[in-house]
Amino acid sequence: MGLDEVVNSLFGIWFAANTILAFFAGFIAAARGRSEGGWFILTLIFGLVAILALALYPVDEDKLAATKVRRKRMRWCPFCLRAIATRAKKCPYCHSAVEPPQPKEST
Ligand SMILES: [Zn+2]
Repeated sequence: MGLDEVVNSLFGIWFAANTILAFFAGFIAAARGRSEGGWFILTLIFGLVAILALALYPVDEDKLAATKVRRKRMRWCPFCLRAIATRAKKCPYCHSAVEPPQPKEST
Protein backbone atom coordinates (compact mmCIF):
# COMPACT_ATOMS: atom_id res chain seq x y z
CA MET A 1 0.00 0.00 0.00
CA GLY A 2 1.53 3.30 -1.09
CA LEU A 3 1.60 6.44 0.97
CA ASP A 4 -1.20 7.97 -1.12
CA GLU A 5 -3.53 5.08 -0.30
CA VAL A 6 -2.70 5.31 3.42
CA VAL A 7 -3.42 9.04 3.36
CA ASN A 8 -6.64 8.45 1.45
CA SER A 9 -7.94 5.80 3.83
CA LEU A 10 -6.96 7.87 6.90
CA PHE A 11 -8.77 10.83 5.38
CA GLY A 12 -11.79 8.61 4.77
CA ILE A 13 -11.86 7.42 8.40
CA TRP A 14 -11.33 10.97 9.67
CA PHE A 15 -14.13 12.26 7.45
CA ALA A 16 -16.55 9.49 8.43
CA ALA A 17 -15.86 9.97 12.14
CA ASN A 18 -16.31 13.74 11.89
CA THR A 19 -19.57 13.34 9.99
CA ILE A 20 -21.00 11.22 12.81
CA LEU A 21 -19.64 13.65 15.43
CA ALA A 22 -21.12 16.57 13.48
CA PHE A 23 -24.63 15.12 13.86
CA PHE A 24 -24.06 14.79 17.61
CA ALA A 25 -22.77 18.36 17.70
CA GLY A 26 -25.97 19.52 16.00
CA PHE A 27 -28.10 17.92 18.72
CA ILE A 28 -25.89 19.23 21.53
CA ALA A 29 -25.88 22.72 20.01
CA ALA A 30 -29.69 22.74 19.77
CA ALA A 31 -30.00 21.63 23.40
CA ARG A 32 -27.67 24.44 24.43
CA GLY A 33 -29.42 27.14 22.37
CA ARG A 34 -26.53 27.34 19.89
CA SER A 35 -26.44 27.29 16.10
CA GLU A 36 -27.00 23.72 14.86
CA GLY A 37 -25.68 24.36 11.36
CA GLY A 38 -22.67 26.31 12.56
CA TRP A 39 -21.54 23.66 15.02
CA PHE A 40 -22.27 20.91 12.49
CA ILE A 41 -19.80 22.49 10.06
CA LEU A 42 -17.23 23.26 12.78
CA THR A 43 -17.34 19.65 13.94
CA LEU A 44 -17.08 18.39 10.36
CA ILE A 45 -13.78 20.28 10.11
CA PHE A 46 -12.37 20.09 13.65
CA GLY A 47 -14.01 16.91 14.96
CA LEU A 48 -13.66 16.18 18.65
CA VAL A 49 -11.98 19.55 19.29
CA ALA A 50 -15.18 21.33 18.19
CA ILE A 51 -17.31 19.06 20.43
CA LEU A 52 -15.10 19.96 23.40
CA ALA A 53 -15.34 23.66 22.53
CA LEU A 54 -19.13 23.34 22.32
CA ALA A 55 -19.26 21.63 25.73
CA LEU A 56 -17.23 24.48 27.25
CA TYR A 57 -19.21 27.17 25.44
CA PRO A 58 -21.88 28.66 27.72
CA VAL A 59 -25.54 27.85 27.12
CA ASP A 60 -27.39 30.67 25.34
CA GLU A 61 -30.28 30.89 27.81
CA ASP A 62 -32.18 33.54 25.82
CA LYS A 63 -32.13 31.60 22.59
CA LEU A 64 -32.93 28.35 24.39
CA ALA A 65 -35.95 30.01 26.05
CA ALA A 66 -37.09 31.38 22.68
CA THR A 67 -36.87 27.89 21.17
CA LYS A 68 -38.91 26.43 24.03
CA VAL A 69 -41.56 29.12 23.62
CA ARG A 70 -41.70 28.41 19.89
CA ARG A 71 -42.19 24.70 20.62
CA LYS A 72 -44.93 25.61 23.14
CA ARG A 73 -42.98 24.10 26.00
CA MET A 74 -42.72 27.53 27.60
CA ARG A 75 -44.30 30.94 27.20
CA TRP A 76 -43.34 34.51 27.98
CA CYS A 77 -44.33 36.14 31.26
CA PRO A 78 -46.31 39.25 30.17
CA PHE A 79 -44.80 41.26 33.05
CA CYS A 80 -41.06 40.55 33.07
CA LEU A 81 -40.85 38.90 29.59
CA ARG A 82 -38.96 35.85 30.79
CA ALA A 83 -39.75 32.31 29.66
CA ILE A 84 -41.90 30.43 32.16
CA ALA A 85 -43.57 27.01 32.15
CA THR A 86 -46.59 26.85 29.84
CA ARG A 87 -48.91 25.83 32.67
CA ALA A 88 -47.51 28.21 35.30
CA LYS A 89 -50.06 30.33 37.14
CA LYS A 90 -47.39 32.47 38.77
CA CYS A 91 -44.14 33.75 37.32
CA PRO A 92 -41.15 32.34 39.24
CA TYR A 93 -39.09 35.46 38.41
CA CYS A 94 -41.33 38.46 39.14
CA HIS A 95 -43.96 36.54 41.18
CA SER A 96 -46.81 38.02 39.14
CA ALA A 97 -49.97 36.01 38.73
CA VAL A 98 -50.18 35.13 35.04
CA GLU A 99 -53.21 34.19 32.96
CA PRO A 100 -53.93 30.46 33.00
CA PRO A 101 -52.95 28.78 29.72
CA GLN A 102 -55.45 28.69 26.87
CA PRO A 103 -57.64 25.58 27.20
CA LYS A 104 -56.49 23.09 24.59
CA GLU A 105 -58.59 20.42 22.91
CA SER A 106 -58.56 17.31 25.12
CA THR A 107 -55.13 16.23 26.31
ZN1 LIG B 1 -42.53 37.46 35.31
